[in-house]
Amino acid sequence: MIKTKVIMSTVEDKCRCGNRFSHWKKFGHQDIRGCPVKDCKGVDLAGTFVQKANSADKKIYIIPLCSIHSKSIEVLEVLDSCNYVSSDFEHTCGTGSATVEEAKIL
Ligand SMILES: [Zn+2]
Ligand SMILES: [Zn+2]
Repeated sequence: MIKTKVIMSTVEDKCRCGNRFSHWKKFGHQDIRGCPVKDCKGVDLAGTFVQKANSADKKIYIIPLCSIHSKSIEVLEVLDSCNYVSSDFEHTCGTGSATVEEAKIL
């Protein structure tokens, strides 16, 4: 299990995939029917920004979670089989020229 916590709207959503669940499927090369949280049977999935809990890895990822877990403030136990997809939209689906300007500022 991967200990995971949901990140609330700290990332600007520039995804061009239609929605973040599509983004996850496209870049995670995976598809699932149910929420990857342990013992959860939820099927109303939405791509959610998360971070690994208790980890040196502070990157923000996208994984699909059910409507309940996507609003959870507790640490979730996510199945190891779930791919964690980068929320770095510049290097995944891309946002065109506006991105280049931002990269310079950084
Ligand atoms: Zn995307
Ligand atoms: Zn769930």
